[in-house]
Amino acid sequence: MDQESKERKSQRLQLLKQRAQAVLDQCQKSGTMDRPDAMGTSKLLEDLRIYQVELELQNEELRAAQLEAEHAQRSYRTLFDQMPLPALVLDTNGIVDDCNERATTLLGAHGRFVALDIRFWHRLNKPDRARLHVALRDVMPGQSQVLRRVEITNQAGAPVVFDVHLIGLSMDYKLDRRVLLLLVDRNAEQAREQERRLYDALLDATDNPIYAADLEGKMLLVNQALLQLLQRPRDAVLGHTRESFQPLRDALLHREADQQVLQSGVPTTFEERIHPVGESDPIDFVTRRFPLYDRAGKAYGVGGIATDVSALKAQQRKLLLSESVFQNSDQAIIVTDAQMHIIRVNAAFTRMTGFSAEAVLGQHTRVLKSGRHSPAFYESIGRSLMQTGHWAGELNNRRADGSFFTVWSNISVVRDSEGQVMHYIALQSDVTQLHEAQIALQRQASYDGLTGLPNRDLFNDRIAQLVAQSQRQQSQFALLFVDLDHFKEVNDTLGHQVGDILLRTVSERLQRGVRSEDTVARMGGDEFVILLPNTDRPGALSLANNLLVRLREPLVLEGAGSYRPMASMGVSVFPEDGRSPDELLRSADMAMYRAKMTGRNRMLSYTADMGASNDLAFTIQTELAIGLVEQQFRVYYQPKCMLNTGELVGAEALVRWDRPGHGITLPGVFIGVAEKSGLLVELDHWVMQDSLRQLGEWLRAGLWKPTMRMAVNQNVADLQRSDLLDQINALLQASGVGPEMLELEITEDALLHHTSEQLERLQALRSTGVSVAIDDFGTGYSSLSYLRLLPVSVIKIDQSFVASMLTDANDAVLVRTIIDMAHDLGHSLVAEGVETPMQCERLCELGAEVGQGYFFGYPVSAEEFEQRWLRNFAS
Ligand code: C2E
Ligand code: MG
Ligand code: MG
Repeated sequence: MDQESKERKSQRLQLLKQRAQAVLDQCQKSGTMDRPDAMGTSKLLEDLRIYQVELELQNEELRAAQLEAEHAQRSYRTLFDQMPLPALVLDTNGIVDDCNERATTLLGAHGRFVALDIRFWHRLNKPDRARLHVALRDVMPGQSQVLRRVEITNQAGAPVVFDVHLIGLSMDYKLDRRVLLLLVDRNAEQAREQERRLYDALLDATDNPIYAADLEGKMLLVNQALLQLLQRPRDAVLGHTRESFQPLRDALLHREADQQVLQSGVPTTFEERIHPVGESDPIDFVTRRFPLYDRAGKAYGVGGIATDVSALKAQQRKLLLSESVFQNSDQAIIVTDAQMHIIRVNAAFTRMTGFSAEAVLGQHTRVLKSGRHSPAFYESIGRSLMQTGHWAGELNNRRADGSFFTVWSNISVVRDSEGQVMHYIALQSDVTQLHEAQIALQRQASYDGLTGLPNRDLFNDRIAQLVAQSQRQQSQFALLFVDLDHFKEVNDTLGHQVGDILLRTVSERLQRGVRSEDTVARMGGDEFVILLPNTDRPGALSLANNLLVRLREPLVLEGAGSYRPMASMGVSVFPEDGRSPDELLRSADMAMYRAKMTGRNRMLSYTADMGASNDLAFTIQTELAIGLVEQQFRVYYQPKCMLNTGELVGAEALVRWDRPGHGITLPGVFIGVAEKSGLLVELDHWVMQDSLRQLGEWLRAGLWKPTMRMAVNQNVADLQRSDLLDQINALLQASGVGPEMLELEITEDALLHHTSEQLERLQALRSTGVSVAIDDFGTGYSSLSYLRLLPVSVIKIDQSFVASMLTDANDAVLVRTIIDMAHDLGHSLVAEGVETPMQCERLCELGAEVGQGYFFGYPVSAEEFEQRWLRNFAS
């Protein structure tokens, strides 16, 4: 109903009221109250009825309007409450007029009885409160304003950030000014922004280049790592295609890879290279590419995350190289763990050892050991590895088939960063063949071809080592110098082949007679040396004695029948007899010389006095030669007498050297030297000549009875001379001496080495009437039966038996046996070295006829002999 119709209605009502009042007044005056149908009354009633209808219509209208209003009110409320934002209506003073459900929820049920506006304002901080007050005042109806980032504490006590939209309400809402507040939550947006910043940080913090590109290849995203690599600012990359910021080749390849992923829709990993600006070496990458989809599931681009694998690749290449070297190496390679368990072997290992990898993996390296090295040897390897990290040397190993082989092994230790042993790596080359060749060469160079014994060179090495070692350990060792007796004769008479057989036999016997740690070496000719580590003098002497016995075992030599090799030995001991190899060797040599000179087939230990005399051996040799020329030699004569009567039956011619500055020198000093130097033959010849000359003189003077015999010593070498017989005959003739007055004394050991030729010569001598005596009998160990074969007539028992026969029962038996046997054979017997009447008596009892020795007389000069013996007896 508009204003106008309302006014009209109230005017009509006023008019009707006035008319009704006038009718009533009329009735009262006329008293016709009970007669309503007075004039004009019905008309009024009619109007009233109309009016009533009108009113009822109006009421109807009003009710409808009211319903409409109520509906509108409800609609507004519903709308207001269901708004997705908290909303409040405030007046300009900040009093809350209305608020919707969201706002109520925000502000909370708590303090329901506290006025809503107070609750609202309490939830704001001071600055925001002030800002809101100003805004409330400023916002005019129909205007709006936004307050950004207003913080409101929610009912849970947490701050929530809102943008507050203020809308000035029109006066239609209220006559006073009212402002509608809409609170728009900013938290979700803020979280999104935070999330984006987190992503950005992550993207830029990683070393992996990351990008995203759209369908056209324009960059949507690029991280710091990629920019760094490209050496471009972000602006130059974002929104651009690769061609504008990458080398063309890279750009095309990478773009193609992007396309491939987009087409297939399958995330794929690519290996690719990037050529960084200004760097020569490309960088290897592995890039994972994946399609990017929008909400609708439509691909809008491609993303990629790359990883720099250059280092890995380089390592891989190195590994490949190592692997190829490992597998293709000619050398066997064995890798073990710290406990020496084999963890890898290569093909060469299998070829070399016959062990497959499977057979040895996990095994300890001892499966390869030959057992030919001592534990100490392996310990020394271990020490070297721990100290230097390395060991190289030869190892004797075992193959799968059990055979042995030698490798040159190079072992290294691999340690971790903390110095802990991780692995051992052994590189091995098979040097078996090399080794064998080397050994053969070494043998040639170090071993004597004939006997297989170490030669002089090797001996020199060994003795040098032994000297060093004995010095360190302060221990002793002994050196034996062995020189075969009469080897030259064997060689000269029986030939070199027989000589070789003898040398081989001797070397075998010597070797069998020593310990494994001893060294028997051949120094050349018939000289041997034996090194006896950790041996003192008594030990060496007893060993030398055993060796002499061992050597004397008979052997059959072609042309000589049964032969007993003999040798003279000299012993020197470190350090007393010499501190250097040279000194020791010289000492042993001197002792050997002395043994030779004092009768051979014996051994002597070095003594200091030998040094003096032997130092002169060389001098002696030269002096001897001079002595022969200058006639410095004399012949002494020692009587031979009947043991029972003492009657003179002959003499032995014994050479003496009237050596300038030394006086009369005994044969022991120079016979050996003379023999060695070959001067003895000449000397013997001179002695024979001079003694026969003397004999001839004595004979002619009537001093020498023709029944007496002159014994002259002859070296076995003399027998070798084919002209010996002629010479002797010539001398006999020249001196006018009959052969029956001459007796040749030949030592037993010399005769043992006889040859058939020598025997024939002896035989021939005998047939001329010359006697032959075996000198020093008993020392040469010739069998008694052997004696029968010799064309001798006299046996001279060696003085050693005579010296000991009274004290040694064995020797007494031996002497008796020799005497009996000599008699059996028809030989006469001479006892040497008779010094006492007791010996003389005993020899007599035993049946010996002739004696020689100090008991009867010393060897004396011709003049003295003549004086003492010939003139006395002759008279
Ligand atoms: P032999 O032929 O056995 O001579 C005997 C040696 O015994 C001599 O030594 C003599 O002096 C020594 N002798 C004699 N009676 C006794 C005694 O009662 N007690 C002791 N202990 N010794 C006694 P000598 O003269 O020194 O000669 C040593 C050896 O030298 C000789 O031993 C002989 O084998 C050799 N010899 C000597 N002259 C010559 C020679 O002209 N030519 C050769 N080839 N050898 C010679
Ligand atoms: Mg003699
Ligand atoms: Mg003798």
